Formats: sequence, structure tokens, C-alpha cells
Amino acid sequence: TPDVPFLTPPTAGAHIPPVPLDQPERVKGVFVVLVRNKELHELRWSLRQLEDRFNHKYNYPYVFLNDRPFTDEFKNTISWITKANVSFGLIPQEHWSLPEWIDRYKMLEGMNDLVKKQIIYGANLSYRHMCRFNSGYFFHHPLLDGYDYYWRVEPDVQFTCDIDYDPFRYMQERDLKYGFTISLHEIPETVPTLWETTRKFMKKHPEYVEQHNTLDWVSADEGRSYNMCHFWSNFEIGKLDFFRSERYQKYFDYLDQEGGFFYERWGDAPVHSLAVAMFLRKEEVHWFQDIGYVHTVAHNCPSDKEMQKKCHCNPETSIDRSEYSCTRRWVNLPASP
Ligand code: GDP
Ligand code: MN
Repeated sequence: TPDVPFLTPPTAGAHIPPVPLDQPERVKGVFVVLVRNKELHELRWSLRQLEDRFNHKYNYPYVFLNDRPFTDEFKNTISWITKANVSFGLIPQEHWSLPEWIDRYKMLEGMNDLVKKQIIYGANLSYRHMCRFNSGYFFHHPLLDGYDYYWRVEPDVQFTCDIDYDPFRYMQERDLKYGFTISLHEIPETVPTLWETTRKFMKKHPEYVEQHNTLDWVSADEGRSYNMCHFWSNFEIGKLDFFRSERYQKYFDYLDQEGGFFYERWGDAPVHSLAVAMFLRKEEVHWFQDIGYVHTVAHNCPSDKEMQKKCHCNPETSIDRSEYSCTRRWVNLPASP
């Protein structure tokens, strides 16, 4: 087994009991699910596990979002899965369309280039809208008004361990802003100018950059280049305030004006991650090592033997132990003074 500097498992959270729905001290947490009607059964697969492993005890509400209206079949089927509150929202057209400053021809050239290089979603326009929406707009949806924390969930993922405490309260009690399970290296061809653009932004707005930032996680050469490290955003537990902040909004607007969501294929994962790196201290970010989680080719599985008893996952293949992951690099970052 490789020598991985594992954290002590955060069983610290284990004492946090559910708070009844009618209690004011309940954390204002919500699951956010962007999904298409055709992914209904893949979503059931995710939510059944999430409910059985966690939410049947905690009853956090769900907000489902879609660029098209949800069908009655979709809504009815979701109601089988949870007794928690659910709401279904439509994404406003202006958050899911080509901005007028985008040069259509240049975009098609960029798509062609990615197709030639056989990059996944190379010519997919809806994928680009999705990444832009998750980068700049989901936290503005009116159905999320009044919530403090969100937990992003996707179709076709797995939750492989019992979660016997409340991650939302864990975040709130420690004043955490961002939580992840998996980190990886981005496909460089999807973000050729993202770093350069981010550097220009920091030059223009040095006042937004946190003094004890975590930029060393995303650059190994003092900022000259991006090492492609990013948190995988298909799982996120985050503070909505962080994304609603002036500094984040200004960053998103700057990126959006540059057009890389369309000319290249900037993902919301590197965008969120670079924002975390610029704006947050290490102590404001948490690796949920104890949350067993699977998305496509990568999974997170706790290494601790005690925790294994409540999991169906193989710790030996957990992505944090591989060279593809950036989690070891994250753990090894020095704490801020
Ligand atoms: P990947 O994880 O990067 O391979 O991308 P996914 O296909 O899983 O998409 C990420 C998330 O966005 C998932 O929750 C999808 O259900 C959702 N999504 C992707 N494209 C669309 C779309 O065109 N419309 C809607 N409503 N959701 C989408
Ligand atoms: Mn996915």
C-alpha cells in the first residue's frame, strides 16, 4: 500500500444528531440536483442510496433543476423516494443560453478542435451550458433563496457508507465553506486559457485574493502554470454565501466575458476549485474522507477499519491513493498561520 498521509477519520461529526423539522436551530441545508427528465432512473439509483445511508434520518429538502419542465412522471416517481420536501424548478432562459458577445464561428472552431483531439463532450453545447450554469448561476435560483448550504447530487452516483452525522452541521459548526470527496487532474485541452485568465483577474482585483490562499494547491511553480488539480464538483457540500459573494461573482463575470465556457470547455469543477484556491484558507475547506462516494471512474472510500464496517467500498482502490488524485497534495498543504 502506498504511503498516504491519511487524516484521522472525521468521526468527530458522529455525535451530531438530526434536528427535527420544526426546530429553529436546524441548518438551512438543501440538496441541489440538476438533472434531465430522461435521467429519472439513474437519479433514483443515487437518491435511494442517499436516503437509506443518510437522509431518512435528517430529512433535508431537495431542489431539482432543469432547463426544461419536469414531467409529471418524473415528479411522481421522485415522491416515492423521500418524505422530505421536494421542489422542481425551471432554469431561466438567460442562464442557459449563448451570451450575445460569443462569436459563434469561433465557438464552432473550438468544438472542432476538441473533437479532433477526441476530448469528451468536445462538441456538446448543452454540456457547456451546464458547466456555465453550475459555475455562475445555480446559487441564484429562487428555489435556493433562504438556504445557507447546498449539497450537490447527480444521477448515477453511489453513496457507499452510512453517514451517521449531519455534514451540513459539521460545515456550519466549523465555519467551512467548501467540502469535497474526490479531486483529480483536469484534461488540459478543456482549459487552455483558464489559468491565464484567472491570473489576469487576480492582477485586476488583488483585493479579492485571500492572503493565506491555497493557490499552491493548483500551481507547483509559484503561479506560472496550472497543475490541473481540481475538486470534482459532481459531489460538493458548500456554503451558498461563498458563491453569492462579490469576489466570486466578479470572478465568474470575468471568465464569462472571456468566453472560455464556449470557445474552450471550461468545467465548473476547475472554476469552483480556482475560486476556492484564490479566496479560501485551507481551514475553510474539508475533505469528507468518511463519505463513501462513487462517480463513474473514481471513488472515495474511507481507509479506517471502523468506518469500513458501514461501507460497501474497497479502500485499496480509493482514488485518493492514486497518482490521478490531488487529495494528497491538498492534505500536505501547510495550514495557514
Ligand atoms: P459529467 O459528470 O461531467 O460526465 O456530466 P453529467 O452528464 O453527469 O452532467 C453533470 C450534471 O448536469 C448531471 O447532474 C446531469 O444530470 C446534469 N446535466 C447535464 N446536461 C444537462 C442538460 O442538458 N440539462 C439538464 N437539465 N441537466 C443536465
Ligand atoms: Mn456526472
